[in-house]
Amino acid sequence: MEIEGEERGLPIPAYCSADLDALESGAIESLKTGCQEAIADSLAWQGEPLDRNVLVTSVDAVLNWGRRSSVWPATMGLACCAVEMIATGASRFDLARFGMELFRATPRQADMIIVSGTLTWKMAPALKRIYDQMPEPKWVVAMGSCAICGGTFRGSYSVVPGVNLIVPVDVYIPGCPPRPDALLYGLMQLQKKIAKRSIAAKESK
Ligand code: SF4
Repeated sequence: MEIEGEERGLPIPAYCSADLDALESGAIESLKTGCQEAIADSLAWQGEPLDRNVLVTSVDAVLNWGRRSSVWPATMGLACCAVEMIATGASRFDLARFGMELFRATPRQADMIIVSGTLTWKMAPALKRIYDQMPEPKWVVAMGSCAICGGTFRGSYSVVPGVNLIVPVDVYIPGCPPRPDALLYGLMQLQKKIAKRSIAAKESK
């Protein structure tokens, strides 16, 4: 509400208290009229900048996203399957796409171990020791028939009939040997498993 200026014909603000009261009540009435119904989109009031930059999620989702996108494998090539594992890490199959390309030479820097090949009883204590030295949380992948059940050497006096007798296995990848595609598929299954972890259910496998 404005009144005309006397001298130059310019509008001047109303300073009279009655006019100010009228202005204030007008604004309140207008707000009341427009606030009779809930805002349909509860995020609309935030405006575009907030809409595009705020993400609501859970702690589990963030932690698991980080873990499954950056798994560090320990080196454990035991026999012919290891050649396919090595090929998976090279440029053609590009394990780097899954954030797992850095095979570590020390278990203390690894949280996943791909047991690729035939595990002998002589090697079993070394596998157990390497697994024990890996920090939690950690995962084990059994790659190939030999790792899963002894494969073609099952029943031999020297071969362990399944690495799950020595360490807990999270993912089994069958084949003799499994192709790199199969290993990649198995690792994607491992990522799904990691995504289901919860810090509330501590160290659930
Ligand atoms: S599963 Fe087949 S390819 Fe793999 S280590 Fe055993 S014999 Fe070799």
